[in-house]
Amino acid sequence: MVDFELIIIGAGPTGLFATFAAGLRNIKSLTLEALDSAGGQLVELYPEKMVYDMPGIPKIRADSLSQQMYEQAIMFKNEIRFNSKVTDIKQLPDKTFQVEVNGKEYITCQAVLICSGVGSFVPNKLGVEGEDEYDGKGVFHYVKSINRFSGQDVVIVGAGDSGFDWANELAPVANSITILQHNDVIKAEERSVKEALDSKKVNIRLNTSIIRMLGDGQKLTSVEIQGKDGKETLKADSVILAISYKIEPNSFKSITLATSGRYIKVNHAYETSISGIFAAGDIANVTDEPKFNLLAIGSAEAYIAINNIKKYLHPTSSLFGGHSSSLNL
Ligand SMILES: Cc1cc2nc3c(=O)[nH]c(=O)nc-3n(C[C@H](O)[C@H](O)[C@H](O)COP(=O)(O)OP(=O)(O)OC[C@H]3O[C@@H](n4cnc5c(N)ncnc54)[C@H](O)[C@@H]3O)c2cc1C
Repeated sequence: MVDFELIIIGAGPTGLFATFAAGLRNIKSLTLEALDSAGGQLVELYPEKMVYDMPGIPKIRADSLSQQMYEQAIMFKNEIRFNSKVTDIKQLPDKTFQVEVNGKEYITCQAVLICSGVGSFVPNKLGVEGEDEYDGKGVFHYVKSINRFSGQDVVIVGAGDSGFDWANELAPVANSITILQHNDVIKAEERSVKEALDSKKVNIRLNTSIIRMLGDGQKLTSVEIQGKDGKETLKADSVILAISYKIEPNSFKSITLATSGRYIKVNHAYETSISGIFAAGDIANVTDEPKFNLLAIGSAEAYIAINNIKKYLHPTSSLFGGHSSSLNL
């Protein structure tokens, strides 16, 4: 007797739509999410950006889309657990699975659907004094709320696309914005650089690096910088590190799944090389060709996977469960 028919790993957009589709097909599922909230990249990487390419939704903020996807996911009351990182998957002799959560809890199921996206996001660091002390108290890796920077003197490290995107988004509310780049290379789109320069609020300093972050023990107050002309102290309420992030791929030590590049290889049913384990979204690829990592595509893949999982769990059931428009909810 297993705990759940299906365990879905990840409550990003793909895992959320898979949770909804599992409910639609009356599959007893549990969705496990490593973070404390749903939405994956939508809320972790670009919550305040507009998304224009979800079918039927001309324009929506990423965090609002995530909220709506969450509401849809729990429509049939399929459970989603947060702060629950899947650390291993073991296949048991009877072909069911034991999923290890946070290295210490074990849940059994008949099938697994991996929707873990690009993996866990681990931001890059500068490695300077004060950086760890003021992390979250003035030092940030992402912009989750523009208004948080209202009236502030903001230093952005990194003259790439993210650095300029954030500078342009913060320019209407911040007091001043200084972009620092350790060399003299600006790797951002020309239009975005022009917009920043036109705003008159954004100052770009090349060949300049932060060497120390200073504060009053509670919050960041300034940064010491080193440029070609020597050292200087710059007032800073916030530092945003736009220096990208490392992605730590998931590895489940007890199983070996066939991969293609960074993707888990799946067939047209979105089943991996181990029968009963399926994968969809940014983590999965049917071919060895580059794929489009998009919200609508992840959702479509989740839908196909769930219908195939239904057939895997109950071989006599039909593959297609019918149109949702025939329901009367
Ligand atoms: C800046 C940016 C802008 C974008 N704009 C668009 C756009 O306009 N339109 C569009 O269609 N797409 C856009 N995308 C792409 C889109 O966001 C992704 O295709 C989508 O988020 C993939 O969803 P996913 O659920 O497969 O993966 P993710 O969003 O990466 O979610 C995976 C989830 O799984 C969780 N997880 C990972 N490992 C584990 C584990 N071991 N245990 C438990 N949980 C785990 C993660 O914490 C995460 O919540 C954009 C991407 C970026 C970076």
